[in-house]
Amino acid sequence: MAVNRTPLIAGNWKMNLDHLQAIAFVQKLAWGLKDANHDFTAVEVAVFPPFTDLRSVQTLVSADKLPLAYGAQDVSAHDSGAYTGEISGAFLAQLECQYVIIGHSERRTLHREDDDQVQAKVQAALKHNLVPVICVGESADDLEKHGPSAVPVAQLRAALAGVDAAADIVVAYEPVWAIGSGKAATPEQAEQVAAQLRAVLADMLGQDVAAKTRILYGGSVKADNILGFMREPNVDGALVGGASLDLTEFANIVRFQK
Ligand code: PGA
Repeated sequence: MAVNRTPLIAGNWKMNLDHLQAIAFVQKLAWGLKDANHDFTAVEVAVFPPFTDLRSVQTLVSADKLPLAYGAQDVSAHDSGAYTGEISGAFLAQLECQYVIIGHSERRTLHREDDDQVQAKVQAALKHNLVPVICVGESADDLEKHGPSAVPVAQLRAALAGVDAAADIVVAYEPVWAIGSGKAATPEQAEQVAAQLRAVLADMLGQDVAAKTRILYGGSVKADNILGFMREPNVDGALVGGASLDLTEFANIVRFQK
């Protein structure tokens, strides 16, 4: 974690918590962290609920002025039109989302999203002033065949094609074999790939962007392993799945405490 980048702890709820549960959860999370004197400017906290929760989260965050960021788990590459089931970046911007996750491995695998679609979605997010959280990561098979960084590096290069150097982006390195498996990468492994991803940012978008862009680690992050990742110079936070659904656990991850 570098001093000039504000760490980001992001909770990817996946398809969990309906809008009523989301209201209760977000309220308790914000108040719990405030009670624990969490400095939200020192460590930013974001939640990524299902689409159907976003309006409720927006209403709550704006009415109570909660210091939480939020975003969606996906976005359409298109603005509007005959795209049944898709959600436009314009709609997300209207709901005051700051972020959108793009290219999560579950979308790449279960919905066969390829690098071209990820690239188009990154463009759509930026067009609507949403910060894309670009997910990259290697499968167990990739790891064995190509080592840890080849696939994430290629995925990031593809996602960034055509991105302007002024763009505000977040990168999440999530080894597929670590997601939901209980078997996180080691901090050293995460750092090794994060450093390579930062080199890609420098090469494609310049040193300044590389220096300011946050690179998160994701994959079986818990309260008892977060600190190891946060101690690494190129890891600036975490994208947390399962553990983001447990209030106490997530609050402890935000505070880097067991
Ligand atoms: P996990 O998921 O923390 O449950 O491993 C991470 C993710 O999919 O973003």
